[in-house]
Formats: sequence, C-alpha cells, structure tokens
Amino acid sequence: MNKPIDWKVTAQDGNARTGILRTRRSTIETPVFMPVGTQGTVKGVRFEWLEEELDARIILGNTYHLWLRPGTEIIRKLGGLHKFSTWNRSLLTDSGGFQVFSLTDLRKLTEEGVEFRSHIDGTKMFLSPEVSMEIQAALGSEIVMVFDECPPGDAGVEVTRKSLELTARWARRSRQRFDELQQSKQDTGFLESPGLSGRQALFGIVQGAGHLGLRDESLEKTVEVGFDGYAIGGLSVGEEKSVMYEVVEHLAPKMPADAPRYLMGVGTPEDLVESVYRGVDMFDCVIPTRNGRTGGAFTSRGKLNIRNAVFADDELPIDEDCLCSVCRRYSRAYLRHLYQANEMVAAILISHHNLAFFLDTMKNVRQSIKLGEFDKFRHDFLDKIRGEDG
Ligand SMILES: [Zn+2]
Repeated sequence: MNKPIDWKVTAQDGNARTGILRTRRSTIETPVFMPVGTQGTVKGVRFEWLEEELDARIILGNTYHLWLRPGTEIIRKLGGLHKFSTWNRSLLTDSGGFQVFSLTDLRKLTEEGVEFRSHIDGTKMFLSPEVSMEIQAALGSEIVMVFDECPPGDAGVEVTRKSLELTARWARRSRQRFDELQQSKQDTGFLESPGLSGRQALFGIVQGAGHLGLRDESLEKTVEVGFDGYAIGGLSVGEEKSVMYEVVEHLAPKMPADAPRYLMGVGTPEDLVESVYRGVDMFDCVIPTRNGRTGGAFTSRGKLNIRNAVFADDELPIDEDCLCSVCRRYSRAYLRHLYQANEMVAAILISHHNLAFFLDTMKNVRQSIKLGEFDKFRHDFLDKIRGEDG
C-alpha cells in the first residue's frame, strides 16, 4: 500500500543530512524551516510572497487557535484549511496540546484528556487524542501531530516519567482514531498524488524533558506505535541551551533514519544550524515573524533592532548579504522611520526579510551538506553571526 509521504535521504555529512520529503501537495527539500501560520496566515506575510519569492513549501497551522476560531465546523464546511485559506502547498498542524498547556486556564488533566477554558471567551472546552485527530482531519493538513502532554521543562524524573507514559498511551489512541478517520474519509485535504496514498501522515512525539534515559524510553515507546515521522517535543521551553543541544545530540541519531526528524518550536538561526549538525531535518518557530513585528531583524552578522537610533541615517540594507526584495530596495534608515511612525508595513517588511533569512540559511545548509562541507559552513556561519569573523 502506498504511504502518505515519501522520504529519501539524499546526502549525509556526519549526522547532518539532506533529504527530499514528498507530500500529496508539495516536494520539500530538507533540512527545512517551516514558517508558522498560527491562525491560517503567516503573520504579516501574504501567501503570494511565501510562494513566489520565499518559496516556502510547507507552513504550520495551529489546531488550538483554528478550533476556537473560526471553528472546526466552519472550516470543514468551507472545504478544509487549504481551500479556506487558499494555501495549496503542504501544511503541518500541531495537536493543540502545547497551547492548551501554555495558554489556558487549565482545569483538569485526566487519562481521558484535558479540560480547560478558552483564552478567548472562557468557554469550557475538552481536548483529547480523539478530538485532536478529528480537528486535524477537518483542517486537512498533510502532516498531523499526535496529541501529547507537555510537562514543564524543569519537571523532575518522576513527573516526567508519568507524563511520557501518558503521552505514550495518548500516542496509541491518536494512531487509532487517526486511522479510523482516514478510513472513513474525514480528511478534507485528500488528494490523489502519484505513488502516494493521498492521505494524511501522522508524526509521533518523543518527550522526556532533559532526562536522557527517559528520552530513550519515550523514543522506544513512540517507535513501537509506528509513525510516518518523529518529533522531539518539550524543548525550547525555558531550559538552558546546553540541555537542548545535549538532548538533540543524544536523541536525533537514535531516531529512525528512514523517517524525517522534527524538532518542534526551535529556534534561532544558531539553533537550526546546531541541530542540523546533530541530525534534525525539520523545524518551526514563530521568532522570525514575532521579532519582525517589534523591529528585531536577523542577519548574517547577528540580530539587530531596527528601531535603534543608530540606524536613523543608515543607508545600508538590513543585511548586505541578503538578496530578498526588502534588502534589495529599502534602507535601515527608512525601515526605522516606518517603525517610529507606526506604519504597519514596517512589521510586514521585517517579517518578510526574517523569513527570507531563515529559508536562505537552510538553503545554504543543504548546499554545504551536499558538498560535504557542512562543518566548515557551520563554523563560518556561527563565527560571523556571533561577530567573531574579524
Ligand atoms: Zn533581506
């Protein structure tokens, strides 16, 4: 039987690897950075730009936010998130769990699921593995994430163990409900595609906080259920960077080599390069657009805040090495002026540049892996971004 996604490693350099991930809607070169489209839109960046200039092949949608507003029934009635939003390339949806555990007034966590109050209007809601799979089928994303529990980053061994055991049981329930929904054709995004099943793919999530032994246990339990790809969850939640890198370094090479490895919610440009080095293939993070809204610009020489007075008469582009349409046209002085004047296009332009920088970085990462020069690239990139290139 055909699989929902096709995945091939095309080059390997140490633990770093390039691959081709084919879904029913697009072909994605990995390592890949996925822009986050929380509310069915990447904040401040039109799909036209994402498609034509930035050439993003896959973006994220947030189950929690879309479930609360406009609601699953409206999206299903309008044909799913692809048809509703007009984004016709790949979508990955999260399970909603992370937002429930971090944004809401949590009422009750049981074996069955989580009861909480909506952060919008206080309505009582219930999320479980089954409900999450049902919402994600209605959204019709190419990649569905299992519903997991996200314990606090500093949780001790016993709390973390209990949590990952619950996550493992929820992974089985997610798998079962997901399979039923595919059988009964509840997936709004179904699309016939040569060599593929046309159905959604399901990724499992490895938890275990900073405890390496528990990470191993969680990985074993997750692989036992069997998924199309595997994610590392519960990192970048306030722990030290060294802990994150240690967990990734320990875990990524042990994850199935014949499936994509996805590090959830990470990270800065340095984090991306350091994690590719340790074997990760997929990333997502809100920081390019979140920073863009407040004037934070990522460049090959480190991050700068365009609102800073030093840029008042600076005629240079944000990043002299960037070829994006913002850097080709506008000066730092003009962009700073737009922020000072509260012009909405300021946030739009910096968000655009930031995404261009992230996607371009991943393109350079892939190129250097293919040439067998990733180690040199990594050192040069990190030196330059940390201002140590002389
Ligand atoms: Zn640029």
